[in-house]
Amino acid sequence: MKLLKNIFRDLLALLFPNLCCGCDTHLYKGEDQICTHCLYRLPYTDYHLFPENKAAKQLWGRVHCNAVMSLLYFKKGYRTQNLIHHLKYRGGKDLGTKLGHMIAEKLMQAPVYSGIDLIVPVPLHPRRERLRGYNQSQCIAEGIGAVLNVPVSRNGLVRTGITKSQTKKGRYDRFKNMQSVFAVQDSALFKNLHILLVDDVMTTGATLEACCITLQTCSPAKISIATVAYTE
Ligand SMILES: [Zn+2]
Repeated sequence: MKLLKNIFRDLLALLFPNLCCGCDTHLYKGEDQICTHCLYRLPYTDYHLFPENKAAKQLWGRVHCNAVMSLLYFKKGYRTQNLIHHLKYRGGKDLGTKLGHMIAEKLMQAPVYSGIDLIVPVPLHPRRERLRGYNQSQCIAEGIGAVLNVPVSRNGLVRTGITKSQTKKGRYDRFKNMQSVFAVQDSALFKNLHILLVDDVMTTGATLEACCITLQTCSPAKISIATVAYTE
């Protein structure tokens, strides 16, 4: 039933591209990807204003980060789930850019995120990126970069290993699975920089942790993290 519902939604989006990615209603002129109604009602975390937020605490003792924020809470059946589904499976490149703009506006309110030198999207496995046609984290990163006027790394951080589906694994297995999955092309690229690492959803934090561990071998000045959604 759920699958049918998703197929129906995807079909609707194909036939009527001017629908809100959060609630599937028609967008009015001037609205971009997300309707005004949704923009007001999205479950914002305001984590950018609270350094000791749940997403940051999730990484405590695992990797050292300057600051961690997520734009929205992720809950099944809510608008955020529609946004993430759209971002990943309906070719939501423009939505990625829009969400990037929204994240950037939050980052500008918090001094801890000032002085970002380079934005690094979490890479997808090349095969998955070919299938999807884009990396949604890259789209989000481009959106952030456009507002903050900061360059976005393309292929500076790469995904090397083959990761099997993680959905049925426990936290430790996920972490082990993530080790050696990422690599850098040129370690001089990140040296002494304030890096903003960007992903779509943070759940266990295993992917972000593995990326941070790899990036930290290049001696960056600091690493901050921003994601669209956080799963509690
Ligand atoms: Zn809406």
